[in-house]
Amino acid sequence: MKLIKVKGIVIRESTYKDNDKIITILTDSIGKVSVIAKGAKKTNSPYLASSQYLVYSEFVLYQNTGYFYLNSASVINTFYNLRIDLDKLQIVFELTKLINSVTDENQDCEKILKLFLNTIYALDKLDKDKKLIVNAFKIKLFTLLGFAPRQDKCANCSKLLLDAEEEFVYYNYVDNVFLCENCKGIGDSRSVIRLTKATFNAIFYVIRSDLKKMFSFELKSYTDFELFGQVFTDTIFSGI
Ligand SMILES: [Zn+2]
Repeated sequence: MKLIKVKGIVIRESTYKDNDKIITILTDSIGKVSVIAKGAKKTNSPYLASSQYLVYSEFVLYQNTGYFYLNSASVINTFYNLRIDLDKLQIVFELTKLINSVTDENQDCEKILKLFLNTIYALDKLDKDKKLIVNAFKIKLFTLLGFAPRQDKCANCSKLLLDAEEEFVYYNYVDNVFLCENCKGIGDSRSVIRLTKATFNAIFYVIRSDLKKMFSFELKSYTDFELFGQVFTDTIFSGI
């Protein structure tokens, strides 16, 4: 029996038979996998902690007849403070739902795992606006999946928008492009939202920054940043 050692975090758990669980783990090396944890619901199970939602562990797995089984596990971080804060837990639940819906079983998830760990660390430890964290997460997640807007210039006239002095930029969510003040009326204006320049700069900061630095910015208002995160996510989902 070949044993596979991985690090990962449980992003979904469900009951399987009386005392067993099926846990979905976002791993560092074999992607997102569903694992049968036999006896994990028993109070004396060695997997009791590791098989819980949001617990980050080192797992030893084996495969049998096409299924992964849990052989042993040791906890790295339980994110205890997050799980006792209902507001934050609700946010984390939304994030894992999003990850679950955009990733396939066995798809390479190393960067998404890092992004998720950084994000829940930021929620847990950093004194940042939650809208900043959640929407930076969404933007980065879709960047990693290859859906981020590529150009920081106007899609119509090629004007560079990062350096432009205009107060606002415009995002066409159907075409996933930005437009300048002069060109905002090009195409279907019903699919265009107006964003502050500071929001636009923040979006590109997140798209281009290292995972470790992606929350290192501030905005006076997160209203537009949240609007972009929502519209961007909805658009990607309608196209997936
Ligand atoms: Zn333009």
